[in-house]
Amino acid sequence: RVAYVNGVYRPHGQAVVHVEDRGFQFADGVYEVWSVADGRLADFEGHMTRLFRSLGELRIDPPMSREALTRVLRETVRRNRVRDGIVYLQVTRGTARRDHPFPPPGTPPSVVVTAKSMNFDALEAKAAKGITVLTQPDNRWGRCDIKTVGLLPNVLAKQAALDAGAGDAWLVDEMGLITEGTSNNAWIVDKDGALRTRDIQANILRGITRQTLMEIVKEEGLTVDERPFSVEDAKQAREPFVTSASAFVLPVVGIDGAKIGDGKPGPLAKRLRDLYLDKTRDEAI
Ligand code: PMP
Repeated sequence: RVAYVNGVYRPHGQAVVHVEDRGFQFADGVYEVWSVADGRLADFEGHMTRLFRSLGELRIDPPMSREALTRVLRETVRRNRVRDGIVYLQVTRGTARRDHPFPPPGTPPSVVVTAKSMNFDALEAKAAKGITVLTQPDNRWGRCDIKTVGLLPNVLAKQAALDAGAGDAWLVDEMGLITEGTSNNAWIVDKDGALRTRDIQANILRGITRQTLMEIVKEEGLTVDERPFSVEDAKQAREPFVTSASAFVLPVVGIDGAKIGDGKPGPLAKRLRDLYLDKTRDEAI
């Protein structure tokens, strides 16, 4: 495998950043993940637009133009011979002697790009079974709309879920309402059949898969109700599921040890997964 680090492609095992990189010292950086479908980048514009928004919100200078970044993403995919998989991009505020204030103007941001293959059939098998989730308190900071590399609460919640034998955690705010998963957005088809997901005014990441799926849902003549739902709503739901660039649309079949319905993925989640895959694979660049 090969990784891009600050202008150079290096063997993955030798791809390193400086000990005083602000990503390492302060989690002072942002990232994006694109799904790679048949060697092409899915939901390309959405992720690129969100990257530049994240950089802007943190006042990190874009390291290069969108066009130049696109070339690096594609070249990293090509050099790693990825057909199906993901490409990961991280930009930090750069390397400087450890000190909280921003480094001097002109300090170049650090850029890292990696790509890895994923077994598409294994992902499909996982989706056919569905996953279970464990609810956990959402104790993240107030700017979860920025895709920063500061993911410690997500990491701890995910591990707590795995330790409890679940597949992922769903985060719950102080009102008892679900915000999102540790690395995905949370959805339900509620007990009355309404398709619901948290609104983006809430403290969540504005998922690109969520955004594209909302367009698909509208094209199908269905509606999405951006109305918060509680843990209890989710347990009583017909079909909970999650969305992300790396998992697409993934059914949830159990919450906090309780089976949802018959414990099998529901029909709408399955259909939306197929529609999402069809559209994004078609439009990948
Ligand atoms: N929420 C969080 C906290 C995430 O980390 C992710 C994935 N990066 C998502 C939602 C899903 O976002 P997307 O559909 O853009 O991958």
